Amino acid sequence: MAESQARTAARAALSPYLKGEELKAALAIGAEDLSDLLRRRPRRYRDVVPLRDLQNLHEGEEITARVEVLAVTVRPMRARRGYILEAKVEDLTADLTLTFFLPHQGLVSFHEKRLTVGREIVVSGTVGFRTFRNRTVAQITHPDYQPVDGGDPEELAQLERPQPVYPLTGRIAQRTMRRMFRHALAHADRLEDPVPVSVLVARAHPDLTTALHDVHQAENASQFQTGRRRMAFEEMFVLQAIFAQRRAQDARLPAPALTADGPLRPLFDGRLPFTLTDGQQQVGAALDRLLSRGHPTSSLLQGDVGSGKTVVALRAMLRAVDSGHQAVLLAPTEVLAAQHHRTITALMGELGRAGRLDGAPEATRVRLLTGSMRTTERRETLLDVTSGGAGIIIGTHALLTDGIDFASLGLVVIDEQHRFGVDHRRRLRSKGAAGQSPHMIVMTATPIPRTAALATVGDLDVLSLTEMPDHRAGVTSYVVPEAMEVWENRMWSRASEEIAVGRQVFVVCPRIDEEDPLDGPDGPPPRGVLQTAERLGKRQELAGAGIGVLHGRMTPEQKRTVMEKLLTREIDILVATTVVEVGVDVPNASVMIVLDAEHFGVSQLHQLRGRVGRGEHPGLAFFDTRAAPDSDTTQHLSAVAGTTDGFALADLDLQRRGAGSLIGDEQSGLQSGLRFFDQIDDDDLVPAAREDAFAVVGDDPELRDHPVLADAIRRRLRDADPDVERS
Ligand code: ADP
Ligand code: MG
Repeated sequence: MAESQARTAARAALSPYLKGEELKAALAIGAEDLSDLLRRRPRRYRDVVPLRDLQNLHEGEEITARVEVLAVTVRPMRARRGYILEAKVEDLTADLTLTFFLPHQGLVSFHEKRLTVGREIVVSGTVGFRTFRNRTVAQITHPDYQPVDGGDPEELAQLERPQPVYPLTGRIAQRTMRRMFRHALAHADRLEDPVPVSVLVARAHPDLTTALHDVHQAENASQFQTGRRRMAFEEMFVLQAIFAQRRAQDARLPAPALTADGPLRPLFDGRLPFTLTDGQQQVGAALDRLLSRGHPTSSLLQGDVGSGKTVVALRAMLRAVDSGHQAVLLAPTEVLAAQHHRTITALMGELGRAGRLDGAPEATRVRLLTGSMRTTERRETLLDVTSGGAGIIIGTHALLTDGIDFASLGLVVIDEQHRFGVDHRRRLRSKGAAGQSPHMIVMTATPIPRTAALATVGDLDVLSLTEMPDHRAGVTSYVVPEAMEVWENRMWSRASEEIAVGRQVFVVCPRIDEEDPLDGPDGPPPRGVLQTAERLGKRQELAGAGIGVLHGRMTPEQKRTVMEKLLTREIDILVATTVVEVGVDVPNASVMIVLDAEHFGVSQLHQLRGRVGRGEHPGLAFFDTRAAPDSDTTQHLSAVAGTTDGFALADLDLQRRGAGSLIGDEQSGLQSGLRFFDQIDDDDLVPAAREDAFAVVGDDPELRDHPVLADAIRRRLRDADPDVERS
């Protein structure tokens, strides 16, 4: 419904500028109006095809040539109505046949009038070959052509310049698409520019009309590049204006100022069995500053697995409690929530046992709240949450939607941004105490390089832990191509050696069940948890080992049982899906084997290996693959195996997949609005666009004096989030 309404609106918006075939083409690519249409980019340019001669043509070649018409023949088609018109043309070197299939006589006359014998034409198209009575002839079917004298000079000029190549949909011809864009471009000067002139001048970018010409009708590569860069700048400028507005909104919202320096936190610091790294202290101090303002902060705390984020976040939570408020920590799964609860309770010791004989006088309570809790237990916990008896609450993200009343929520910490999407924070805004918004910290173990962070989560304050506490034994990773059987066997015997000395092993598979239908690309079907567990049970090296499975189709109860067996070491080998990726903490595990490793992203592999070598025992990670030892895939895996620096890996990922791979849902929706911007080539545009956009929004937060920018923002937000209704 909405679809066809949108189409009707688009037709109305575009029909003043385009007619017939061209209007159809514009609608086919989903353009909603002139502004949207002209902001589509050509996929590439067909190079200026210099006029060439007809010698040595080859199949599929795109050519432009100046030729003379030798002869024209017309005959009716055999199978259907219509005519075949063939024009034989030549230059000084060879000849060529131009073939047209024409449904009616009118078209035949049209071509006959223009293709008169002896006339010179410029012809352009893709060469094909046809064999006829033992002779092979070169031909072009439905070429573009223009008579040199007496034709349409504009069309003639088009044939001799570089041609934009647009992505095609349906049965629209490239030629029609080009003509459509050319005609639309003639109206480009009606469009208003979302970027203020002063900004363009200062950054030496062309105005919108010029840039659109550069993009759609470039004379050469550098002209296209100038236009593309300007359009990329505009896109980044609009995005940064969105970030600036969000920050401006935050700055107007009240939040509890978390200013207290004690008593809990200093006591907690005194209990820590280690000293904080410099990085943890610096990030902690920065967080304190953000939290003590009377406005909600939205921060991204990033750092590799094991870099000590949880401790940093917990110290911020204690500051909230010290300031008379509550803090919640949200984990993506119940298993992880339970694990956080265990860790935090242990770290806090007597400081988390308020009201108990073994509690400290200053203590608060730490509560775990999950969906699978028994009713009585849940009721008791809820009471603690609504009364304020619990200072620290740990749960799954369902806590946000459950309609739970917090006594006084001051801070929300979200573990692992990927599973949430940064924009859950809108929902958080309503959860605060007495009309106030809580502060928010998102923790992610997928660090985003600095500029990419500005371009993707520029509405958040990014805090990074770049060093690792040096207590960890660390992990060494290897790539194991299964073609190398010796390596493969060695891998399993290493696993059994580790089990023999009391360690545990993770085996991760891309999917649960090999019986499930596949929709992935070609190649050997990835292995499943269920079948792998069975196969491992039969492997000689592993005889006698306890094997367990963990995956998303198990009930919370079943998962809990497995986790318990893992901790009590009844299970030696856990075969699992990536459920173990996000923070499952088994300090005794020392081997991580990832089967069909090419099915996992860079950050997933890195997260997975971060599951071992966490305690005192050095870890081993094996990226097993059935790809050929000398393939790109194996090389890529080797690159991941060879680097343990999360930031370097993020760069690797960025090069391979673009920034969208690093961030969550709505934020990546915003990224998909970037058609001209290139994460790698246009890195330098980000700080500039940000500075300019923040300046504009800073002076005029409602953008009253910048209605065109305001409109561009509305569109971008609407496109990023399909749930927002089209207006
Ligand atoms: P992350 O959440 O970033 O993965 P954690 O906060 O869970 O990392 O820390 C990983 C392990 O390192 C935990 O056992 C934690 O207690 C420990 N740890 C954190 N900070 C330090 C430090 N400064 N020195 C030694 N160990 C630390
Ligand atoms: Mg953690």
